[in-house]
Amino acid sequence: MSQNSMRLVWLYPDLLSTYGDQGNTLVVERRARQRGLDVARVDVRSDQQIPTSGDIYLIGGGEDRPQRLAAERLRRDGGLSRAVANGAIVFSVCAGYQILGHEFVNDLGERQEGLGLLDVISTRGEGARCVGDVLGDLDDRLGLPPLTGFENHQGVTHLGPTARPLARVRFGNGNGTGDGTEGAWNDTVFGTYMHGPVLARNPLIADLLIKLSLDVNALPPVDDRWYEALRNERIAAATQPA
Ligand code: GLN
Repeated sequence: MSQNSMRLVWLYPDLLSTYGDQGNTLVVERRARQRGLDVARVDVRSDQQIPTSGDIYLIGGGEDRPQRLAAERLRRDGGLSRAVANGAIVFSVCAGYQILGHEFVNDLGERQEGLGLLDVISTRGEGARCVGDVLGDLDDRLGLPPLTGFENHQGVTHLGPTARPLARVRFGNGNGTGDGTEGAWNDTVFGTYMHGPVLARNPLIADLLIKLSLDVNALPPVDDRWYEALRNERIAAATQPA
């Protein structure tokens, strides 16, 4: 990638994009353009081949059956794993997050193999579905303000030794393991249960993805007032539920 262009790949909008997760792609695209980058956005349906030349890949959440189909097709295609091996950045939400792990439990109640790009496994929670607004503190290493998002999942995700928790929840469930962790990440692959869309609520995570792909430490500031208004409203909703 040259320093003034970026290839953004939005994976499987036909199967995985619940609760407005497509908004994550729009936010990364807009914030990259605001920094003067020439962004090529590629939307890849599940019957199309995944390009391996992307800089940032985004994948959203989904219902249980589309999640099974998406995982099968992603594994068969192999393009996302090759892109990660070449240093691409991936940001995944909910069903997408579970698929990036080693395995998850699918709609047939069977353990299904994921891509193994994150050192996590997901099971089906025995308790109530995790639904509601979430507030958490992102991993200190990321140096970012609190995480706000909305969760709606039955799956529970357990982290292995090479995955770091993306955040620790103050309100809400996150990974659902009861240990307060939410999401997971390694160097270039990120997973979260947060919808919202989460990058509209946490635009500095979108900037982090852009910085990682450009290999720079800082980006020119942009006007964040609308994002701040949304953050404040949703953080209030998490901390003072109706
Ligand atoms: N089907 C998965 C679960 O319930 C993911 C749900 C989602 O992506 N919102 O755990």
